[in-house]
Amino acid sequence: MGLLDGYSISFDHFIGGERVASERHFDDISPIDGSVVAQISAGGRHEAYLAVTAAEKGFEVWSRTPRGERASLMRTIASIIEERVEILAMVETIDNGSLLRSHIRSVMPRVAHNFRFFAQYLEESLDHEDFDTRGHRNHITYDPAGPSLLISPWNAPLMLETWKIAPALAAGNSVVLKPSEWSPLTASILADITKEAGLPDGVFNVVQGIGEEVGPHLVGDQRIRRISFTGSVPTAKAIAQVAAKNLTPCSFELGGKSPFIVFGDADLDLAVKLALDQYDNAGQVCLSGTRLLVDESIFEVFIDRFSAAVVELRQGDPRAEAVDLGPQIHPEHLERIDGFVQRAKANGSKLVFGGSKNDELGGLYYRPTLFVEDRIDSEIFQEEVFGPVLVAKSFSGVEEAIQLANSTKFGLAGVIVTSSQEIAARVSSEVVAGTIWNNCFFVRDLGAPFGGSKSSGVGREGGQWSFDFFCDVKNSVFAPTGWRN
Ligand code: NAD
Repeated sequence: MGLLDGYSISFDHFIGGERVASERHFDDISPIDGSVVAQISAGGRHEAYLAVTAAEKGFEVWSRTPRGERASLMRTIASIIEERVEILAMVETIDNGSLLRSHIRSVMPRVAHNFRFFAQYLEESLDHEDFDTRGHRNHITYDPAGPSLLISPWNAPLMLETWKIAPALAAGNSVVLKPSEWSPLTASILADITKEAGLPDGVFNVVQGIGEEVGPHLVGDQRIRRISFTGSVPTAKAIAQVAAKNLTPCSFELGGKSPFIVFGDADLDLAVKLALDQYDNAGQVCLSGTRLLVDESIFEVFIDRFSAAVVELRQGDPRAEAVDLGPQIHPEHLERIDGFVQRAKANGSKLVFGGSKNDELGGLYYRPTLFVEDRIDSEIFQEEVFGPVLVAKSFSGVEEAIQLANSTKFGLAGVIVTSSQEIAARVSSEVVAGTIWNNCFFVRDLGAPFGGSKSSGVGREGGQWSFDFFCDVKNSVFAPTGWRN
């Protein structure tokens, strides 16, 4: 247990409704100044076993709890989150360095909304109408599947966690959450909130720890019936190998190198504004359109206007209202970003601006960076940097734009800026991705499918798709009265 910004938070696991400490701990540092803000219990085999055992017991109770009661409890959780928006926002900002103003205005209210949305979906939209096959009635039910393991990254901790927790709980599953070791704190607050809301013990559990140490013990437990993971491609592959031993169904939401395509007829003010958004969260957004593909007829003018706009971005302490760009999450990650940038420079990619740590600010700040690159097989054009680093390339014609957009192993998202509905429709349809935004960015309805194609993921979550994953979907066929084979 410790104090953060005057708020008391447990740094231990939450298992079966109780706090469980480990003998070993790891440091949780704040990206704002690199200080150690907490020493967190480091789970291993033992804690993983305890948590899954608790989740098994929780499942017995929760899977039999009527839908209305499940939905009502989820709304209580949402109400408590709404009461605590400010503290959740501050703790998240200290823990992962994202902007406080975004956490207060949009992220934390949205976290509460995640619970309300899936509670309502459970009550109003989940059931299918029965249908008839030669007089036999097909009745489809969404049955709880079992204890679900949810593994999350650090870039939007509570938001991404609750995208999974809310539908899993709505489905009647119990949950073991393994938050990222770089941003473990708000998950711990959420555990207290679920207890306060009256969620039965064992329905929601949190195991803290280093991914490689505790992860395989959780993933490999055959009592886990669903694994929903958001994170990097290499980790997904490691999880898939362990999960395959038990054929545990997995949903993977992974990285991207998404195209941001600006056509010659685009509204340039809009294009520049949307391009600036690709630096959101200091570039640590999986969905960012990090490859700026720009029609050759407007390439120079777009780069000039974009460069001028980037100068106006204010970088600094993410708690300050006026700041647009906060720090990177962790010293290791800062070095990783810088490694990509220095290799790109050494390989001859043309640096337009940025390209270094922001030494004036010290700490973990990286300057917004843009390269122009013609070689599409270069590392900077192909690999996810996950920092404020964009790469631009010109194209000629719709055909080439589509070809370039599809020229990486990823397929998470894409942004298209054009005044032509025809171009928007064609390019939307031909770019391989889970989400395409036309003349907009980051508009996300919880009822819409979300996920990635190719190396960006396996499966879709959101609305119906979340229930399809978290439930055992069953068809019960009823013969008509008196029917004989
Ligand atoms: P990561 O893969 O390093 O870690 C993600 C989680 O997996 C962490 O909780 C970590 O502790 C855990 N983990 C690590 N090794 C494990 C193992 N062997 N078994 C089980 N769990 C293990 O990813 P990260 O650095 O935290 O996040 C950044 C990545 O996440 C980027 O690639 C980004 O694009 C991606 N991401 C994707 C989405 C999406 O919705 N598609 C959203 C956010 C982030």
